[in-house]
Amino acid sequence: MLDVIGLSKKYNKTLAVDNVSFDIQNGTVGVLIGPNGSGKSTIIKSVAGLLRYTGEIKINNLPNKDIEAKKVFGYIPEIPAMFPLLTVREHIVYILKAYGLEIDNEKIDSLLKRFDLTDKQDKLGDELSKGMMQKVSICCALAVEPEVIMLDEPMVGLDPKAIKELKIIIKELKEKNCTILISTHMLEMVEDVWDMMILMKEGRKVGQYYKNQMGDKD
Ligand code: ADP
Ligand code: ADP
Repeated sequence: MLDVIGLSKKYNKTLAVDNVSFDIQNGTVGVLIGPNGSGKSTIIKSVAGLLRYTGEIKINNLPNKDIEAKKVFGYIPEIPAMFPLLTVREHIVYILKAYGLEIDNEKIDSLLKRFDLTDKQDKLGDELSKGMMQKVSICCALAVEPEVIMLDEPMVGLDPKAIKELKIIIKELKEKNCTILISTHMLEMVEDVWDMMILMKEGRKVGQYYKNQMGDKD
């Protein structure tokens, strides 16, 4: 469960996010939608604990700054950062170690397979295309089996097959009761997975919609 209460963020003079509140229940997908510059990334980075902000953000009722809260969330940035000298597989091993989790090779194999990375698992970070980096970044976030997961424009730069796989994974995460926050500027990317949608404009929340209120069925 994710609670965002009165979140504001100013970069120098730009008020990037202006008093935004929402919550996302376990097992549901919340989507931030809006044009470029409307504050979506800033919200996600704040939730991920990467920015200073005013307001309150709670993950499973703990402040997101709390180490116990950090342990349960996964974050997939819009622009993936890779270690140039680690292989694809080593990235996943690294993240599992950082979270203090056991290195489960079968789990790593199956994640790599889902994103067609099996043949590329020995490639180094600086040999990867943007799309491959995105896939590695998704594998790393999924490997830790987070309870709350944040995806910033996850479909951008992915091939159609990976987009399809990611949508299946999002549905699986919902079944596992995971809390999911996705930002996008393209509605069609989330139309079959969303439960709640927040419309952002110039840093403000200008609308909130629930799928079940709109008579939509899966
Ligand atoms: P979105 O994700 O919807 O494209 P952002 O959260 O990236 O929106 O940006 C919201 C506003 O904050 C924009 O005006 C953007 O230019 C500004 N902004 C984002 N990051 C920074 C930064 N690091 N420094 C200054 N301004 C920023
Ligand atoms: P997004 O809109 O999703 O933040 P961008 O490509 O606009 O993606 O931003 C890339 C990086 O540049 C981000 O880290 C963002 O915080 C930063 N950034 C965005 N706008 C500005 C800005 N006006 N001034 C300084 N940094 C910015």
